[in-house]
Amino acid sequence: MARYTGPVCRLCRRVGEKLLLKGERCATPRCSLDRRAAGPGRRPGGRPRKLSDYEVRLREKQKARYDYGMLERQFYRLFVQAERAPGLTGDNLKQLLERRLDNVVFRLGFAESRSQARQLVRHGHIQVNGRKVDIPSYSAKPGEEIGWREMAKSKEPFKVAQELAETRMVPSWLELDKQNLVGKVLTLPSPDETGAKFDEKMIVEYYSR
Ligand code: SF4
Repeated sequence: MARYTGPVCRLCRRVGEKLLLKGERCATPRCSLDRRAAGPGRRPGGRPRKLSDYEVRLREKQKARYDYGMLERQFYRLFVQAERAPGLTGDNLKQLLERRLDNVVFRLGFAESRSQARQLVRHGHIQVNGRKVDIPSYSAKPGEEIGWREMAKSKEPFKVAQELAETRMVPSWLELDKQNLVGKVLTLPSPDETGAKFDEKMIVEYYSR
């Protein structure tokens, strides 16, 4: 599946918010948004343009898409899935985004950022219930165990993850065995604990226009 390969800090500058796409660097003064807040192609210090209603909704949708590292087609497919499921579309969307395997790997502290987590999954370092799963969009279900494959345990990312796991807070819908670096999905994530940086209602409005 194709993915965005350009500079990720540009995405933060485009939406004018810190999306924390680069892990540790985002918390340092080297963050591009702190150094140059104007969006791509805009003069620093220039008066911000007033956004139209359409642009405000588009921006919320882009924020969610950039945050989870998805292309438009993938994101729209997930939105349609959320729309068809019972309940509120916005809440369903948040839940579906959160259940993606690359996100679960990130939430468990196995990687510093979602893009790094996606790489771990793609490179076959991750297993679900003892079987290799290399599809980042795989939707994790309650009861499933997510861990490292044996071959990955001698590699650098596993050692880094061991150190990271000690300091990471795991959301309440997940459980982490810090000794063996095996996570378990306890329940479906509730929309309130996803820590979403976007307004899901605006995304629903954007696609319903
Ligand atoms: Fe965004 Fe992180 Fe880049 Fe700052 S360093 S602009 S938060 S990705």
